[in-house]
Amino acid sequence: MKNFLSMLLLLGGFAYGQSDIPTDYFANPLDINLVLAGNFGEMRANHFHSGIDIKTEQREGLPIYAPADGYVSRINVQPYGYGKALYILHPNGYTTVYGHLRSFAGDIEKYVKDTQYAKETFEVELFPEKILLPVKKGDLIAYSGNTGGSGGPHLHFEIRDSSQRPMNPLLFGIEIPDSKTPIVSAIFAYPVGEDAHVNQGQNRTKLRLIKQKDGNYKTEDIKAFGKIGFGITTYDQQDGASNKNGTYRIETRFNGTEKFEVLFNKFSFSETRYLNRYTDYNYYETNKSMVQKLFRETNNPLSIITKEEDNGYVNVQDSLQSIYAIEVNDFKGNRMYISVPIEGAKLDILEPKKVEKTEDFIYADHATSITKGKFSIYIPANSLYEDTYLDIKDEGDILKFHEDLIPIHSNISITADISSYDEADRDKLYIGRLNYRGLPYYTSTTRSGDKLTAKTRTFGSYTVAADTNPPTIKSVNFSEGKWISNQNFLKVKITDDLSGISSYRATINGKFILMEYDYKKDVLSYNFNDNVNLETENNLKVIVIDNVGNSATFEAKFFRKQP
Ligand SMILES: [Zn+2]
Repeated sequence: MKNFLSMLLLLGGFAYGQSDIPTDYFANPLDINLVLAGNFGEMRANHFHSGIDIKTEQREGLPIYAPADGYVSRINVQPYGYGKALYILHPNGYTTVYGHLRSFAGDIEKYVKDTQYAKETFEVELFPEKILLPVKKGDLIAYSGNTGGSGGPHLHFEIRDSSQRPMNPLLFGIEIPDSKTPIVSAIFAYPVGEDAHVNQGQNRTKLRLIKQKDGNYKTEDIKAFGKIGFGITTYDQQDGASNKNGTYRIETRFNGTEKFEVLFNKFSFSETRYLNRYTDYNYYETNKSMVQKLFRETNNPLSIITKEEDNGYVNVQDSLQSIYAIEVNDFKGNRMYISVPIEGAKLDILEPKKVEKTEDFIYADHATSITKGKFSIYIPANSLYEDTYLDIKDEGDILKFHEDLIPIHSNISITADISSYDEADRDKLYIGRLNYRGLPYYTSTTRSGDKLTAKTRTFGSYTVAADTNPPTIKSVNFSEGKWISNQNFLKVKITDDLSGISSYRATINGKFILMEYDYKKDVLSYNFNDNVNLETENNLKVIVIDNVGNSATFEAKFFRKQP
């Protein structure tokens, strides 16, 4: 019997289709109308968005309710990423996730605070036992906020399957009114074959869009030949908001035959970075606009590509007329059509493929070591998606490591020899990537003897930089020696000019206090409701350490009426 049951579960895991997804199980976690600032699968820097971003009326502190029974299976508190995040595992195997929370509620909040005080740290990741924090549908579980890498107050809401793969929450019957047709803003052609061309050129070609009477589009007629792929820049808007969100499904056809389909139902976190392979990275870095390539290149395992014939490429033949068509759908089935009229013509190539040859040609499937002056670079196999020339030069203290126009999938190491620096200074050195203002932005660096090693997934210029200045700490809402009996929070501003903040610790009268770190405001804040036993006269001490170990200490006295 037991075997039979687990067999059923196993089959369920493999075989469930869209129709098995419960559409009336999860209630709205907020008691406001759902308006989305972002939707599932939408393209972000280096990842597909794994949930929906629900607008919270430009406010924080909206109550969040359990959308179904379950228990708190995970809690994560960190300054970056999801900020304060809550995970609820439901008896049907799905997990719901709530990110960027201002705080948790009730027993959950108490459990987190108790743990933070016991461990004496702000950052915690907890996996409570099933019996510890059960929730019933409708229970208050948290308050919405803007913590972590959030650009404004909203609730990031996810639904994950039993393998922790994020799924499109709209599949679960969550109702988002959408009467607007997806918008197409650009179409591109990519000649791929050796003798392929579009209008006698072999590079990415933007096609002119011509609006049709029915609202759909046609592109300019093109003369083309050989193996060609197409790309699209598109977005969708839902009712009640102007946010440019992602579309749900894109399908292409060539002379009526289905070529390619991309569908945003679910993906796994292990594949999300392949976004950089699927989109035109070079175009994004130069134009800040995402082009989805409607074909599958090598080293692109993305499961959101659900149908493909010849990897989505078309093969245009000489002297034949063809039609390539793209259909873009949103979740509600609003549709936009774009057709590309193609005249097959084998013509001379006037603009051949641009390839800038250098002395460093990298085979993507080999590991490569390169030394330039005092820098050495190790590129593991499959860090790059395709074989390519890299432009690498050392200019004294600066390593020009190509340009950020090619994506890197997994970490590349850059090692710098620092034996020419005074022994006394070496501790303060790190490897930084020069930002657009020429400042060395800290790249996670380790030191071993007279070698510094940084790991990176971004091309650009790197340098060995020294950070000799400790962080700064300033009071925000109190002054030395003053009474602050009516304040709910104690806030200090912490900054570091070069390597950045690594850690901090705060005490009052020698006892640990929990200060939450808001890196967007550079503020640490202590909540007096935490009820750390204070005296009338109190001594606050805050220690902040930067990424190369420079330390700063701030001390202040304040008075507070005893309760
Ligand atoms: Zn989000």
